[in-house]
Amino acid sequence: MVWFVGAGPGAEDLITLRGKRLLEEADIVVYAGSLVNEELLKYVKKDCKVYNSAYMTLEEVLDVMIRGEKSGEKVVRLHTGDPCLYGAVREQMDALKEADISYEVCPGVSSFCGAAASLQAEYTLPGVSQSVVITRMAGRTPVPDRESIQSFAAHRATMVVFLSAGMLDILSKELTAGGYEPDTPAAIVYKATWPDEKVFRCTVADLAQTAKKYGVTKTALIIVGDILEGNYERSRLYHPNFTTEFRTGN
Ligand code: SAH
Repeated sequence: MVWFVGAGPGAEDLITLRGKRLLEEADIVVYAGSLVNEELLKYVKKDCKVYNSAYMTLEEVLDVMIRGEKSGEKVVRLHTGDPCLYGAVREQMDALKEADISYEVCPGVSSFCGAAASLQAEYTLPGVSQSVVITRMAGRTPVPDRESIQSFAAHRATMVVFLSAGMLDILSKELTAGGYEPDTPAAIVYKATWPDEKVFRCTVADLAQTAKKYGVTKTALIIVGDILEGNYERSRLYHPNFTTEFRTGN
């Protein structure tokens, strides 16, 4: 059995209890060294074999996982945040399936949740936005045309942009071309939940300038939307007049 484990967004105590137990039991750990906090490796056994996938190809990662599993070892593949977002896990899963190896996934706290905590923000506010668009700018990995930033911007919903901290000039242009006002609140969250986390609040128009000023080029999320500032409606659910399955309103 191979376990894909979400390491959480950075802070070493933001891995799940299950994820920590799997690390403690593992004979082999392959971790995504570019973003996983190496402090998490203190949970592994003394004789656990540890590989940093930042230096490896998919083929090499698979070779370690498949050979390990076939010789009866417990394998953990440790991914940053939650494995379901930009994790390149599907290609590993399909190769394992082909090799007749079963696998399971242990979720993790994604960085977009870590960033909300850092910002003390609620992404979904009544009367402001009830949706969160999670996306990225096209980089070396293309994004399908129908998923352009501009097309999502037309909704003016809350947007969380991954993997794009080095392209903020174009991001601002696309956001405003799509429909956000240039003064729409925005934020850059660098290394959310890590000890050296930094939060910069700005507007859609001055995203690039802000990143430049503080030297942010990577490991950041861009959050955009009116949820970051201003008015909203109070929730119906907790209103005294609102009747629910659990409480009778007056
Ligand atoms: N699976 C991960 C995302 C991996 S893609 C998750 O669920 O969070 C890598 C990108 O995620 C980075 O380029 C950056 O945009 C973002 N990211 C990951 N960890 C981050 C953190 N702690 N703070 C801010 N952005 C982060």
